[in-house]
Amino acid sequence: MANRRISCPSCRESTLDVTRYDSMMVLKSDVALFSLHCPACGARVSAIQSIPFSLRGQVAEAAAKVHAGMLKDSHAE
Ligand SMILES: [Zn+2]
Repeated sequence: MANRRISCPSCRESTLDVTRYDSMMVLKSDVALFSLHCPACGARVSAIQSIPFSLRGQVAEAAAKVHAGMLKDSHAE
């Protein structure tokens, strides 16, 4: 699963694992903007990646909480 990994633009460390994100902004049901810190140099790195399967359960749960990207009846609140 090569696409879980991104590289650091500062030091070229290429083993940044998006599942270790500091924050994740879901853009689509399967794509998110991940922000994380490089373990080698500490630089803040952001990248748009497809969401790894291991995270999709959490994403669906979080999306449901904020009603992200879904058209829902607005009678709840
Ligand atoms: Zn780095």
